[in-house]
Amino acid sequence: MVKTVACPTCGKPVPWTPESRWRPFCSERCRLIDLGAWLTEQHRISTPGNEVLDQEPSPIHTEPRPKVS
Ligand SMILES: [Zn+2]
Repeated sequence: MVKTVACPTCGKPVPWTPESRWRPFCSERCRLIDLGAWLTEQHRISTPGNEVLDQEPSPIHTEPRPKVS
């Protein structure tokens, strides 16, 4: 029995299998639609200062810099 999920964009049942490459979306189109809606929503609710969250430095780059004396 194949588990199915509802496509977040159109609600169409999507088989949860490796063959469903766009899962949980039914197609690339639905995936892009949802992504676009998400980005639009993010843009709408973004406030000054939120951009920093997207540029959080990775631990690799947090090593202390040599001090110039
Ligand atoms: Zn869909």
